[in-house]
Amino acid sequence: MNTSFDVIVIGGGHAGVEAASSASRMGAKTLFITLKQDNLGEMSCNPAIGGIGKGTIVREIDALDGVMGRAIDKAGIHYKMLNQSKGPAVMGPRAQADRKLYKQAIQEILFNTENLEIIYASVEDLEIKNDRVTGVILNDGRTINAGSVVLTTGTFLNGLIHIGEKKTPAGRVGENPSIGLSNTLKRLNFMVGRLKTGTPARIDGRTINWSVLEKQPGDDIPVPFSYLTEKITVPQIDCYITYTSPDVHEIISQNVHRSPMYSGQIESRGPRYCPSIEDKIMRFRDKERHQVFLEPEGLDDYVIYPNGISTSLPEEVQLEFIKRISGLETATVIRPGYAIEYDYVDPRELYPTLETKKVKNLFFAGQINGTTGYEEAGGQGIIAGINAALKLNNKEFTLTRAESYIGVMIDDLILNGAPEPYRMFTSRSEYRLSMRADNADQRLTPKGLAIGCIGRERTEKFTAKMQKIENAINLLQSLTITPNKLVDFGININKDGVRKSAYDLLGYPNIDLEKVKTIWNDINQIENDIAKQVAIEAMYRPYLARQEADIKLFMQEENLEIPKNIEYREIKALSNEVIEKLSFHKPLTIGLARRIPGITPAALTALMVHIKKRKMLVNI
Ligand code: FAD
Repeated sequence: MNTSFDVIVIGGGHAGVEAASSASRMGAKTLFITLKQDNLGEMSCNPAIGGIGKGTIVREIDALDGVMGRAIDKAGIHYKMLNQSKGPAVMGPRAQADRKLYKQAIQEILFNTENLEIIYASVEDLEIKNDRVTGVILNDGRTINAGSVVLTTGTFLNGLIHIGEKKTPAGRVGENPSIGLSNTLKRLNFMVGRLKTGTPARIDGRTINWSVLEKQPGDDIPVPFSYLTEKITVPQIDCYITYTSPDVHEIISQNVHRSPMYSGQIESRGPRYCPSIEDKIMRFRDKERHQVFLEPEGLDDYVIYPNGISTSLPEEVQLEFIKRISGLETATVIRPGYAIEYDYVDPRELYPTLETKKVKNLFFAGQINGTTGYEEAGGQGIIAGINAALKLNNKEFTLTRAESYIGVMIDDLILNGAPEPYRMFTSRSEYRLSMRADNADQRLTPKGLAIGCIGRERTEKFTAKMQKIENAINLLQSLTITPNKLVDFGININKDGVRKSAYDLLGYPNIDLEKVKTIWNDINQIENDIAKQVAIEAMYRPYLARQEADIKLFMQEENLEIPKNIEYREIKALSNEVIEKLSFHKPLTIGLARRIPGITPAALTALMVHIKKRKMLVNI
């Protein structure tokens, strides 16, 4: 094996997969190191991809030619477009995955990626020279050199599993924790904290009484995640719902003092929006039942994931309460649920490229930065991988919060840190009308093309699609009608005498594509998917015009760069507190500085005046 690479990526989870794949696509000679082949692309917890907000991140990863969307389309066994009734701005694609097929799809893509070499080993330390990472040290003592290193070790850093009073050092069930790298990060003075997450017991589906349960079918026509997938061909299956009961709540309440969360054995914080069952019962005491989704882990797999009852109660208590859930009275538990505590690095240590501020050419992505979820990890992975490659030519690539959910996430993380596990929601975005799951390719693929991270197949497909969209818009704009004539088709709008185009009409509430087609038969010649896409754009156009003004203002400040060598202490008008904050955060733009909690408008003005005076402000 070579002992020198452009980029080394450590950790074969969701962040690592996207980082390794994107660095290779950028042309960097990349080495991907993970513990074993068997866990390359492993879903540590729930075998599902997407959801509200999360699904949009998957589409954004895909738009940059990432792996996750393509892999889930080869493994999805139950697709559901969430929030369908609430409109495209907040719709979220989600799919239940066949765990084995997902891993297989990830590995197939990686094994066929040019410029990418994969080895299975444990990285124990990093080699640092003059504040710059120069390589990694393996457990067998070998050093491998690299221009940039991306660290994506997930829950493995100093991981500790809790099941009731029992504690086991582990990165995930059955896997060793990563202790060496955790010590490295502390030695390098990174701000390291502890977070926790949890998972439910797994149940043998052959022992569940399915006949008493409520069926949850997926969508009739599954909508693919990837812009490259024409059609989902994986067989689709149903999921089922059951509920906890007062009996279940009683057992959990009686034993809650044995849950590490409540006994004080775990002090770190878990994901607020993915609470354990003991948490739900203690926090919502008057709720009589909680939903439990029974999700198969695969087509030929009898393991069932009971979504909603994550727990770290002792094993015997878990067995006891599971038996009290309808349909699970005679169910066999394959393995108990558990909680895991792990080290993470405060993401305020990072630039928007995900490079660390302390060590040059070292990038962090995924759960190590305090996030939770495969999609969040993948979204960071792709940015870190691209930048690890670009850094070798002193270039960088960032996404703002005005153009992508990935940008929102990174902005939130580097400004606010992760005092609790960070998860994506559409409500975190100020610009969600324009940042939709349906238009991620139009937002991001051109950016990917500009930096060279998009492969040939996607380039061709995207170019053809954009041409079709343009033709469709031209056609819709060329078809016009007067308000008076519209009455003949049962449409009443303001009779101002101005002719309206088919495209204009789609912007009116209550006028949809089907209605417009009844006026102009020609519209039927537009391909279905293209017509739907154009109709969504037309529908949001009046609102987007307003949002565009806000985005323009936002981008003005985002483009005002602050030089890296600025000395905040020289600015007399700044208070010590503000100087401390700016020196700690090291914002690279005025926009970022404005969003640091505690930075006042007056401080910002003083900063801008200072930079202007010294002619330091770039692009002003
Ligand atoms: P991981 O997927 O953890 O991958 C880390 C990789 O690094 C692994 O492949 C490992 O082998 C490798 N590695 C570690 N150390 C080394 C080393 N020294 N050398 C080489 N390779 C190394 N997310 C949710 O959204 N909701 C949940 O309810 C939820 N519950 C969870 C419950 C549990 C028990 C666990 C473990 C995770 C849970 N997650 C949940 C989190 C989700 O699994 C992670 O957010 C996601 O997998 C993070 O991806 P990642 O790429 O950052 O890390």
